[in-house]
Amino acid sequence: MNIHEYQGKQVLKQYGVAVPNGKVAYTVEEAVEAAKSLGSQVTVVKAQIHAGGRGKAGGVKVAKNLDEVRAYAEEILGKVLVTHQTGPEGKEVKRLLIEEGCDIRKEYYVGVVVDRATGRVVMMASEEGGTEIEEVAAATPEKIFKEIVDPAVGLQVFQARRLAYAINIPKELVNKAGQFMMALYTAFVDKDCSIAEINPLVVTGDGNVMALDAKLNFDSNALFRHKDIQELRDLDEEDEKEIEASKYDLSYVALDGNIGCMVNGAGLAMATMDIIKHYGGDPANFLDVGGGATTEKVTEAFKIILSDKHVKGIFVNIFGGIMRCDVIAEGVVEAAKQLGLTRPLVVRLEGTNVDLGKKILAESGLNIVPADSMADGAQKIVSLVK
Ligand code: ADP
Ligand code: MG
Repeated sequence: MNIHEYQGKQVLKQYGVAVPNGKVAYTVEEAVEAAKSLGSQVTVVKAQIHAGGRGKAGGVKVAKNLDEVRAYAEEILGKVLVTHQTGPEGKEVKRLLIEEGCDIRKEYYVGVVVDRATGRVVMMASEEGGTEIEEVAAATPEKIFKEIVDPAVGLQVFQARRLAYAINIPKELVNKAGQFMMALYTAFVDKDCSIAEINPLVVTGDGNVMALDAKLNFDSNALFRHKDIQELRDLDEEDEKEIEASKYDLSYVALDGNIGCMVNGAGLAMATMDIIKHYGGDPANFLDVGGGATTEKVTEAFKIILSDKHVKGIFVNIFGGIMRCDVIAEGVVEAAKQLGLTRPLVVRLEGTNVDLGKKILAESGLNIVPADSMADGAQKIVSLVK
C-alpha cells in the first residue's frame, strides 16, 4: 500500500526523522490558512498524488508570500498531473502539502528496500539527489552506495556513517546524517515497509539534515498489525476495479490488454497470462479468485472483468482442487446471465467435478466456448478477440 508524502513525513517524524513543518490542505482557503500558521518566509506548495516526478510536472511550487500561495494552490488543486510515474492519463490533484521552504545546500538520495538477491534489507545512498535514481543507476552506478543489513542486529551506526561519508555529506554533519539513516531504518522495519525512499534528503544552510520528500510503501500482508497505517489509505488514488476486488478478497491487478482472465491460484494466473502472450494476445488483468471461491465470488470477479471497457473477450482457466469445477461453472453461468454477456467467453476446466462443470456450461444455453487444455483455450480466446 502506498501513502501520500505528507502522511509519510508524519510517520517518519514519529521516529525522529527530521522533516520540514507542513500541513495538508484540501482547498485553496485551507492552503492559505496553513501557510499563515506556518509563518515561514518561503512556503512550498506541493501536489499530493501517489506518484513521484511532481516537481518536473509543475506540481511543486515555491511561494514567497500568501498571494503566491493562493495562486499556486488555485493552479495545482484539481489539475491533472502527468509525470513519468502516473502514466499518460495522469492523476488529479485533490490534496496539497503546504510546507516550510527549506534553504537547500545540497540534495542527496537515501532509500531502504528489500533486496531480493541477498534476501535482506538494503540501504542505498547517493550524492546524486533530487534526480531519478533509476537514471543514476543506469548512467553512473558507481555513484550509488549500498549497505546490506543483517536482520539479527539491524542497521549498525558504523554502516550509516560509512554511507554518509561515501556520499560526501559535510564532515560536521555526518553524525546527524547517520542518526537520520538509523531513524529511517527503524521506521522501515517497525512499520513493515517495502520501500522507504527519501529523494531528496537535504543538507540545509543552517546545518540540518532533512527529508524534503518521502515515499513509503507498506507490505499489504502486514497491514493487519498497523491500524494507524491502514487509515492512511486513499481510495481516490487506487484503481476502482482493484478496490472492488479487494472487498471480495480477490487478487486483481488491472493491465492494459484486452483479454480478461479469471483463474484460480497466483501461479496458474501468471502462467495463463504468459500463454496468452505466447499466442499473440494481451491480458487485461491478473485475477486470482483464490482456492475457496463461491458462486458469489466468481460472479463478482466476472463483473469486475466486464466493467473494464477494454476487455474484448474472457478466458476462464480453472484447475479444480479445493475449488470444485461445478461451483465455478455455476458462477460463470450465473454471472453471464446476470450481466447479459455479449463478449466471447472461453472456459477451460480441469480437476474435481470437471464433468459436472462441463455439463452445467453445456446445458446453460449460453455461448460458451469450451477448451480442452490451457493452450487450446489461449489460442481460442486470442483468435476470438482478433
Ligand atoms: P518529486 O520527487 O515528486 O518531484 P519532491 O518532493 O522531491 O517531489 O520535490 C521536488 C523538488 O522540489 C525537490 O528536489 C526540491 O528541490 C524542491 N523542494 C521540495 N520540497 C521543498 C521544500 N520544503 N523546500 C524547498 N524546496 C523543496
Ligand atoms: Mg522527490
